[in-house]
Amino acid sequence: MQDNDFSRKPLQELLGLEINGCPCGRTHRVPTREVSLRCGALNLLPEFVDRWMSTGPLILVVDGNTWTAAGEKAVRLLESAGRTVSLHFVDHKNQPVHADKQTVADLVARIEREKTAGIIGVGSGTINDICKTAATATGKTLITVATAASMNGYTSAISALTVDGVKITEPCHPPVAVIADPEVLASAPQFMSAAGFGDLLSKNASTADWILSNVLLGDYFCGIPVEVAEEAVATSIRQAGIIKANKPEGLSVLIDALLRSGIAMVLAGSSSPASGGEHLISHLWDMTAHWTGRTPALHGQQTGVTTLISLALYQKILSLEPEVIRRKDLKPEFPTIAAMESELRSVFRDISASLMPHARAKFLDQNGLAARRQLILSRWDKIRQAVSAAVISPALSRQHLQAAGAVYTIDGLGITAEELQFAYTYARWIRNRYTVLDLVVDIGMLNEWRSEVLASVK
Ligand SMILES: [Zn+2]
Ligand SMILES: [Zn+2]
Repeated sequence: MQDNDFSRKPLQELLGLEINGCPCGRTHRVPTREVSLRCGALNLLPEFVDRWMSTGPLILVVDGNTWTAAGEKAVRLLESAGRTVSLHFVDHKNQPVHADKQTVADLVARIEREKTAGIIGVGSGTINDICKTAATATGKTLITVATAASMNGYTSAISALTVDGVKITEPCHPPVAVIADPEVLASAPQFMSAAGFGDLLSKNASTADWILSNVLLGDYFCGIPVEVAEEAVATSIRQAGIIKANKPEGLSVLIDALLRSGIAMVLAGSSSPASGGEHLISHLWDMTAHWTGRTPALHGQQTGVTTLISLALYQKILSLEPEVIRRKDLKPEFPTIAAMESELRSVFRDISASLMPHARAKFLDQNGLAARRQLILSRWDKIRQAVSAAVISPALSRQHLQAAGAVYTIDGLGITAEELQFAYTYARWIRNRYTVLDLVVDIGMLNEWRSEVLASVK
């Protein structure tokens, strides 16, 4: 077991993998069985369908853009192979589509009405979320044709949905197979590939957060999911220039890393290996976009930038001596849970009800904070030592983003200084997952570090 270096295992060897007797105590399973990342991979679709789906009619899910990118050709190939395919366009008159309950319900109703044998999702983020959710609800097999190297959710077992204006994640079945033809990926706009690169780069921050919650609070952790994407992320960074040029050679490296990052989440049984405090900030910006009518930037564009915030915080933490924490006033953010709820209700307005259970679980009173700080101090060296292996400097991460032509400031995201301040202060409340955003509050440094840390993304 220990001899296995998962960072160097080819993607093909991770597919269908089952690990029993892992030292972490869990059994790890990868449900995705087949992936093709080569040029011309789309031609393999009829073969994939024959291998993984029963006979019967298929439904192909697309939008206007992905129809042109690969959908039209996919239908032609399937029909030539004798398959009946019905088309399901998720957008209406080219309006941007959301993965919301209604969009999923429409697809589910059609799958049931047409007695569909299998679902072919042709698209990236939103179509992927809609298809994974509908496939899970109906128990149908899903094959995904990726059209952009824009995010790491293709192979993950989580889908992001908008419910009553609030972004939530739900467990789901990943596709049985993924086809990602680098030439198709290169036909997507460059900012989408740059977003995938940004999502990938958040690994430095999210891994550190996952390690932090393990070392400090004893939360579940396993090293295998961390290893799975490690080498691939490093290779993508080396290919940043080719990714910037949106060339198939660079995008095949990037998509390999993104699929591995999705598999890392499946192995961990949660998004922890790829989603920490930097993702909470990004999710909060998505959840509050309707307050100002702002159109959110792509997920990976945002997480690339918010990673710089987490890394700047870790940089401060790594050089902070415990005496400074000991001398800090021990004052909880809110004197009582009622005071916290009242403030969060006024701050989060229409989204407060959905996040309140998460916030309650994080509340610490005076005694709770004293015990937490004691714990932090007793493990300070261990925390610093453990996270230092995962993080890089924000300056280096920013250089990587620049090299790949990705966004690296809030201006590039359409985020204002106020929205940045807001997320820095409050993002930690939207999810009961311990991240660097919580640690900074627990050691009393949130306000002191604010301006310096936020300067890293301006
Ligand atoms: Zn394990
Ligand atoms: Zn992400």
